[in-house]
Amino acid sequence: MSGLHLPQRVRHHAAERPGAPAVTCGDTTLTYAELDWRTNRIATALSALTSDGGRVGALLRMRTEGVEAFVAAAKSGLVFVPLNWRLPAAEAAAIAVDAELQVLIVESEFAAAADAVRGALPSVVVVVVDAADGDVLPRGTWTWDRLVTSGTATDPGLGDDPDAEVLQLYTSGTTGFPKGVVATHRNLHNEPEGLLIYRWKPGSVALDAMPLFHIAGAGWLSTCLSAGVHVVLLGAFDARRVAELVERHRITHAFLVPSTIQMLLDVPDLDRYDVSSLELVAYGSAPITTTLLRRAIDRLGCGFVQRYGMTETTGSVTALAVEDHDPSGLRAHLLRSAGKPMPGVEVEIRDVVTGARLPVGVSGEIVCRSRNNVAGYWRRPDETAQLLTPDGFLRTGDAGHIDGEGYLFVTDRVKDMIITGGENVYPIEVESVLAEHPAVAEVAVVGVPHRTWGESVTAVVRLVDPSNQPDEQDLIAFTAARLASYKKPREIVYVAELPRGASGKILKRTLREGLRATEVPS
Ligand code: ATP
Ligand code: MG
Repeated sequence: MSGLHLPQRVRHHAAERPGAPAVTCGDTTLTYAELDWRTNRIATALSALTSDGGRVGALLRMRTEGVEAFVAAAKSGLVFVPLNWRLPAAEAAAIAVDAELQVLIVESEFAAAADAVRGALPSVVVVVVDAADGDVLPRGTWTWDRLVTSGTATDPGLGDDPDAEVLQLYTSGTTGFPKGVVATHRNLHNEPEGLLIYRWKPGSVALDAMPLFHIAGAGWLSTCLSAGVHVVLLGAFDARRVAELVERHRITHAFLVPSTIQMLLDVPDLDRYDVSSLELVAYGSAPITTTLLRRAIDRLGCGFVQRYGMTETTGSVTALAVEDHDPSGLRAHLLRSAGKPMPGVEVEIRDVVTGARLPVGVSGEIVCRSRNNVAGYWRRPDETAQLLTPDGFLRTGDAGHIDGEGYLFVTDRVKDMIITGGENVYPIEVESVLAEHPAVAEVAVVGVPHRTWGESVTAVVRLVDPSNQPDEQDLIAFTAARLASYKKPREIVYVAELPRGASGKILKRTLREGLRATEVPS
């Protein structure tokens, strides 16, 4: 093995198995040899357009050029900054300015955002990946083909320093404005023992269904390419296409987030697709209800691995292994767990206020320490100071506890915890109960300011059939049998859709802001 980091791994696979497929999108497939030589050319071309450690942005859906740009930037010692293309043009431009992009790689669909970036950063070099013959491009704009042909075939060899910065992602913006997180090769690296959890085999084919601007997309891509597997990119998100691609490419591994799993299982004629090639579905990035997890295990019939992590920890902090997913066994309670620390990761629970370490079974803030933790946020010293503890642990902002066997239970965001009449309520507990009600398709529980109790537990529900709305009191009574009285929702609000961020997570701060206006009677 010739080194552990992404450029070295791609070079290694290209030498060992040059004809093996590396990445497929639509009808385009690149072998490892092609990925290696093309990214050498793109890397040398990018080097000529930038200064050392410069930042190369991208406004791309999942497509092969995005993969090439990531590997090429890594080879040339540049930092790849995939931007969220769902952001309005002005916000994309604000992030481009924040990151001081020197190059921006775009597809024409995002021309308006590219124009906004050009307006805010006149020196940026724009590269269009899908320019058609005859397109009139703004002055100074490059095409992807020109970039590939202008480079030389030699790897610039700047991708071998483990402490070189390689990727700058912005957090999902679930709890506030997205923050830039800078990862080095060392941060992105997975311990080889940790990779055993995915049970790769020769011939494994992995689906990458998440956008590159999310750690679940970029991290999974880096993991899969490092392992030398064939990666199939979903392109634009569509739950039915997930099923189609699994059937067409005999996909064995996929990383999906809970909302995607839900959408996949809800595809009305899912039975028409042969998804029997699936060996393992890794999932995470957001809490999953046991109802959904059981349904997925039952319907897909493959192995499942849960991962818990965040942009700031690049890789997984903990994982729930395949053998711990046993819905019928005595250990079925583990379906609510995020599993055990990955090799090389220390996890502790600390008091949110005092920072004191808490014993087994007691809930507090989850903190972790490993080589995967980033050094901090890009140009946000105050937030960085809050993120890291003096002894080198990272504060996840998530609440949870560890049981006697060392399993972590992520109960909620510290910020989402509801304090009602002095009692702590973790929304996920209430959500899990409501999710079992047959009329409920989806639910989010939030605290709404209340003059007597401080906050009151409010459930926001999307129904399976909106024309058949259950009585509010009946739904509350349904929870009463399974929850302590103070945890019961005081109010149920029915909505057609729950607000979601770009990575599909429910935006509770948006829900809270919307509900704040409504005062709950005491
Ligand atoms: P922001 O930091 O901008 O508010 P975000 O925290 O959603 O957004 P990400 O870094 O994409 O941004 O997500 C990390 C968070 O996702 C974790 O802190 C945790 O709350 C949640 N999460 C990740 N994996 C799991 C999991 N397996 N179970 C429950 N929650 C998870
Ligand atoms: Mg976060």
